[in-house]
Amino acid sequence: MQEYRQFFIGGEWVAPRQGAMIDVIHAATDEVMGRIPAGGAADVDAAVRAARSALPAWAALPPQQRRDHLGRIHQGLLARAGEIARTISAEVGMPIKLSERIQAGLPAAVLESYLRILDDYAFAEEVGNSLILKEPRGVVGCITPWNYPLHQIIAKLAPALAAGCTLVIKPSELAPLSAFILAEILREAGLPAGVFNLVSGYGPEAGEALVRHPGVRMISFTGSTRAGQRISELAAATVKRVTLEMGGKSPSLILNDADLAKAVKATVSSCFLNSGQTCSALTRMLVPESLYDEAARMAVEVAGTFTLGDPLVPETRLGPLVSAAQRERVRGFIQRGVEEGAELLCGGAEPPTELGRGFYVRPTVFGRVTPGMSIAREEIFGPVLSILPYRDEEQAISMANDSDYGLAAAVWSADAERARRVARRLEAGQVDVNGGRFNLLAPFGGFKHSGIGREFGRFGLEEFLEIKSLQF
Ligand code: NAD
Repeated sequence: MQEYRQFFIGGEWVAPRQGAMIDVIHAATDEVMGRIPAGGAADVDAAVRAARSALPAWAALPPQQRRDHLGRIHQGLLARAGEIARTISAEVGMPIKLSERIQAGLPAAVLESYLRILDDYAFAEEVGNSLILKEPRGVVGCITPWNYPLHQIIAKLAPALAAGCTLVIKPSELAPLSAFILAEILREAGLPAGVFNLVSGYGPEAGEALVRHPGVRMISFTGSTRAGQRISELAAATVKRVTLEMGGKSPSLILNDADLAKAVKATVSSCFLNSGQTCSALTRMLVPESLYDEAARMAVEVAGTFTLGDPLVPETRLGPLVSAAQRERVRGFIQRGVEEGAELLCGGAEPPTELGRGFYVRPTVFGRVTPGMSIAREEIFGPVLSILPYRDEEQAISMANDSDYGLAAAVWSADAERARRVARRLEAGQVDVNGGRFNLLAPFGGFKHSGIGREFGRFGLEEFLEIKSLQF
C-alpha cells in the first residue's frame, strides 16, 4: 500500500486542511493500492502562496543554475525508474516492459532534452532598435491526466522550471502516486522551497480552485476536451493564459501504394498502445476499397498478437484499462459500433473469460466503418480500431480531416513525395510519414478541439515565457 497523507507545499510535507482521502485502485486486481489526500481551495491557496514567494528568486537565477537543478532532478528520476514503472503499471495497466520505457523512461528523456535546450536558448534578442526579453510568466498551475501520469507532469514541469516559473501541480486522482514520488525526488534534489508544490484532489474541487486563483498566471492542462473547455471558461475571469492538450481521433491514412503489412501493423500497435489510452493513438485506419479485405485480415491478425493479461507479467502485451468506469465507457462504444452497423471483426464488448478481475477489454477491430458512426467520430480511449474504406486520395484526405479533433495523423505511401504532399494537407498537430519516429524536440499539440499550444522542445519552453520589448 502506497499511502501519502500530506501535500508538498513550500518545500515541506504539509497536512491537508480537511481529512478526506482518495483511494487509488490497482487496474489489474480492483484492489486499493494507495491513498492520497483530497485537497480543497485552502490547500491550493497555501500552495499558490508558496509558489509566489519562491518566484522572484527562481526567476532571477541564471538559466545555467536552473539547468543544474534540472540535471539533479533528471538523476533522481533515473535512480527511481524501476519503482516509477511498477507503480504506474499497477495504477494505469500498462505492460511493465513498455512502462519502463515510456512511463519511466520518457519523463527522464524529456527532462534531459531541456538540459540541452537551456545550453543555448536565447532569453534575449535584438530586433532593430529593440531588445526582446523572454521572461517567466509567473506561477503556473498544471493539471494532468492519468494515462501517462508522470510524463504529462514532466512535459509541463521541465519547460516551466527552465523558463523560470514556479509551479503548483494537481495530478490526476486516478493515477497520482508517481507525482508524490516526484515530490520526494525534488526534495532530495534540493530544489528551492516553493518552486514546486503538489496538491492532489478532484478536478471540480482542487482543480477548479487552482484555475480560479488570482495568484496563478497560467494554467497548463492535459486531459479531456470537456474539462479543458470548463477550465478555459473559468480562467477567463482572471485573464490567465491557458494551454490545453486534449483528446484525439487520429487517422492513419494508408495510400494504395503503401507497404500494407507495415502500415497496418504500426497502426494497430499505435491504436492499442496503453490499451488504447493514448491521446495521439491512431484509431481510424483509412484504407483504399481495393485493399480493404487484405487490410482487415491483417489488422485482425495483428490484434491477435496482443495477449491480454497482468501488466506486471513481462509477456503481457495488453493490460487492463485504468478503471471500472473507463471499461464500461469503452464497452458502451463497442455496443454502439455494432448497433450502428459496423462489422465486428474481432474482440467485442463481452469481458474476456480467462481473466476473473481487472478492468480488461478485448482487443477489438471494427470493419466497414463509415464517417458518421460514433466509433469513427468519438474518442473511445480503449483498444478499439475502426477501419474505414475510401474511394480515392481526395476522399481519403477529406475523411481524415472530417473530425472535431486534430491531434495526430499518419500517412503511408511508397512514394515519399506523395506522402509528404498528403501529410501537408492533414489538419493535425503532428503527422508521422511512413512510420516517422516520435521526436522529443518537435512541437506536440492539437488543431481544433485537440488543444491550444504546444509541448516539448523550444516550442514547449516558449509557452511559459512572456515577451517584453525595450526600445532604444
Ligand atoms: P479529465 O479531463 O477527466 O482529467 C484530467 C485532469 O483534469 C485531472 O487531473 C482532473 O482531476 C482534472 N479536472 C477534471 N475536471 C476538472 C475541472 N472542472 N476543473 C479543473 N480540473 C479538472 O481527463 P482524464 O480522464 O484524466 O484523461 C483522459 C483524457 O485526456 C482523454 O480525453 C485524452 O485524450 C486526454 N489526453 C490528452 C493528451 C494530449 O496531450 N493531448 C494527453 C493525454 C491525455
